[in-house]
Amino acid sequence: MQQQRFYDFIIIGTGASGSVLAHYLTTAGASVCMLEAGRHFRPNQFPSDELHANAGLTWNGGMDSSHDARTVCIRGKVVGGGTIINNCLLDRFDDIALDDFRTKSGMDFYSRSRMDQHYQEVESHLNLEYIPESDWNGNAHIYAEGFDKLGLKRAPLRRGQKNCDNANNDCVVCLGGCPRRSKQSMTVSFLPSALAQGAHLIDQFHVHQIVHGHKQVAVYGTHNKTSKILYARKCILAAGSLGTTELLLRSGFAKNLPALGQGFHCHPQFMTMALMNDIVDAHKGAFQALKSDEPRFRQQGFKLENVFAGPAAIAMLKTGFGEQHQDFMANYRRLACIEVAVRDEVPGRLHLNNKGHLVIDKPLSDIDQQRAEAGLQQIRDIFRETGAKRIIESPLRIALHLMGGCSIGQDRASSVVNEQFQVHDFPNLTIADGSIYPLAPGINPSLTIMAQSHRASQALLAEFGVNNTIPFQQPMNREASA
Ligand SMILES: Cc1cc2nc3c(=O)[nH]c(=O)nc-3n(C[C@H](O)[C@H](O)[C@H](O)COP(=O)(O)OP(=O)(O)OC[C@H]3O[C@@H](n4cnc5c(N)ncnc54)[C@H](O)[C@@H]3O)c2cc1C
Repeated sequence: MQQQRFYDFIIIGTGASGSVLAHYLTTAGASVCMLEAGRHFRPNQFPSDELHANAGLTWNGGMDSSHDARTVCIRGKVVGGGTIINNCLLDRFDDIALDDFRTKSGMDFYSRSRMDQHYQEVESHLNLEYIPESDWNGNAHIYAEGFDKLGLKRAPLRRGQKNCDNANNDCVVCLGGCPRRSKQSMTVSFLPSALAQGAHLIDQFHVHQIVHGHKQVAVYGTHNKTSKILYARKCILAAGSLGTTELLLRSGFAKNLPALGQGFHCHPQFMTMALMNDIVDAHKGAFQALKSDEPRFRQQGFKLENVFAGPAAIAMLKTGFGEQHQDFMANYRRLACIEVAVRDEVPGRLHLNNKGHLVIDKPLSDIDQQRAEAGLQQIRDIFRETGAKRIIESPLRIALHLMGGCSIGQDRASSVVNEQFQVHDFPNLTIADGSIYPLAPGINPSLTIMAQSHRASQALLAEFGVNNTIPFQQPMNREASA
């Protein structure tokens, strides 16, 4: 019989939630094992072209489709999770989002006075910069001109980056892993310290099932095509909205947790392009620099940002084929682009079909369609004001902010996780990733995922009686038989 190490915590997923938790738990002296389905890339190893990046860094090649095949969900499958492939725009929630979270979940800590300490703590590990006007690319200038002509309020975006040299760089690869160590992903912020403090990371480990016990959790998965079982006192699910929900569904928790899979939100995004007379070079420097700051838009449930992507992604946004499509792509450097991101009101549902595959049931409701249409109308107006020769609207909806499925709340009937971030009735399971969001905030989600993960780490340490003066009890480890 093979003897295996017994950990204090197994963390499934190394993204915005998992890496933050690993950092704070190892800081307190706990033994932590991190399991990640994706590969661990060093900065100089990231794929250098978009197609290999899609294949190598995302689930299903970046093509997790909704059941109606109208929305494409993109999520990272790599050490660092979504933070490797995201734009790293890091916003705190405003009062509107916090109040709505508090009302829906009944969790008092969703307030400015209670969350500020968590925001401050995680921000102290990140280099955050507002993109200065001197670093804007042509697309940002068009966005600003349109907003100003229409008298709309705009604001600079805050981004996690360091020495990015936006003004001069033409690297385009930002969403395929940052080779400059500029983007403040988990692999340049929380993960290195967790590893230095003794966290054990196993990449390319796909977790299939978890079994909850009174004193330990068993985690089943495959690594190098071999079945493995690992044990810990507690298991933290940090596999993201889709991954965490899917794991609990696969592990048979639905019978005890009626709300499991409910409440899925995704901020559906619609990218609208405009063909301009002059070169725009929207791919240069930071793809995104500006956001709308119109209270009216916030009330109406949408926001606008300048945005762009590499040529493969842009090609997929345009319908048609042949010469017409070729002409469109030949004008890549003349394209401007603005997205409307909808604060989706009506949730979808995640469930398994009879073949055991995850189904993302997320049709766009009338109300959310109307929110999108209100934003699209503003974009058309902006592009008309700024001299667009042609406006190209993509029929594809993109979902990058995947949230819900295991929402936080007070009772088992309508939620999955309690105030201590424990799964209701399963105290050895903790969740603090995007899956616990009770609704869509309408704001970039990852900074709040980090902040609530810091809060969850404090709740876990308090459970073990650990505080500033009392360290984690060592040794925690005992041998478990596999
Ligand atoms: C293109 C893009 C741009 C974005 N831009 C922004 C932005 O600018 N600002 C912002 O705030 N947010 C942005 N996001 C969203 C943001 O990245 C996510 O909200 C955030 O990373 C979610 O954190 P998480 O911890 O919930 O999950 P993730 O970061 O997704 O981490 C989950 C990890 O768990 C792993 N995993 C899943 N299932 C298993 C399993 N069974 N076994 C082992 N491992 C598993 C995954 O591989 C993944 O690495 C963007 C996302 C994308 C795709």
